Amino acid sequence: MRSILAAYFLVSIAGFGQGQQPGTKWTEEQLRQAVAPARAGRKLTPKSWPGKARVAVALSFDVDNESYLLARGETSPTTLSAADFGAQTGLPRILQLLDRYQIPASFFIPAVSAVIHPEMIPAILKSGRHEIGVHGWIHESPPGLASAAEEERLLNQAIEYLTKASGKRPVGYRAPGWAFSQHTLGLIRKSGFLYDSSLQAMDEPYELVSNGEDTGMVELAIDWTLTETPYLGRGGTMPSPELLYKLYKAEFDGAYAQGTMLVLTLHPHVTGHRAPMHELDQFVAYMKSKPGVWFATCEQIARYVKDVQH
Ligand SMILES: [Zn+2]
Repeated sequence: MRSILAAYFLVSIAGFGQGQQPGTKWTEEQLRQAVAPARAGRKLTPKSWPGKARVAVALSFDVDNESYLLARGETSPTTLSAADFGAQTGLPRILQLLDRYQIPASFFIPAVSAVIHPEMIPAILKSGRHEIGVHGWIHESPPGLASAAEEERLLNQAIEYLTKASGKRPVGYRAPGWAFSQHTLGLIRKSGFLYDSSLQAMDEPYELVSNGEDTGMVELAIDWTLTETPYLGRGGTMPSPELLYKLYKAEFDGAYAQGTMLVLTLHPHVTGHRAPMHELDQFVAYMKSKPGVWFATCEQIARYVKDVQH
């Protein structure tokens, strides 16, 4: 183990040596400016959650399916079919589970996922409990786009499509790949979003501040450990979802003890498989067994923390 770490350290040092390190020459003012565009403001956890609940839980699903592959021009039928699993099998299983427990969830959808699978949005909206949020037009990577104008074109196209398909203008934004460009925050602010759910500075709701100014948007932060894609499925590093759900349970227990919030982000094409669905079922049953858990959409949480006097 030690030798692996030592080797990794040497590779890291070598990497740093070869690469550009412009930050080493930045002044204190430049360093402050570098972090200023999207910062955490005040914590927005209320003194109590609705119904005197102790914790708010938002189950969220990024319905990527084939969109991110198509964005890169991927047309391999085999590769696309593994992503199609999200629409064919994953989403129906997830909706069934949510119905069984009678809990709401937020679904962030790249519009192209709905173009390819038009049946998904009506299926999500059927129960009347769930929310639909924006997750890009085709899961484009905002930092990789040519200009702010191009990012705005795709964002507007996505908002327009999802508004028409769902009958309601989405109020929540989650960046594709969770990646903001330098323009994203300004664009979603201009579009009038109530909240963002792409950043990761706190594990409770907070004010989203840009260059020292409150944007008026709520941030419902996510986290790379509170999602399954780095661990399960193709390229995943964990053979069993059981361990992952041990982590989620510990995160929930912590949020419950602190009286804050848990946001879990899952993907139908990954979590929709049998073994992770089994673990998700057990996890929801565990949370349901505790008193004082408020299951809510991200929209409900954002509205509540924004309206409550702190
Ligand atoms: Zn995604």
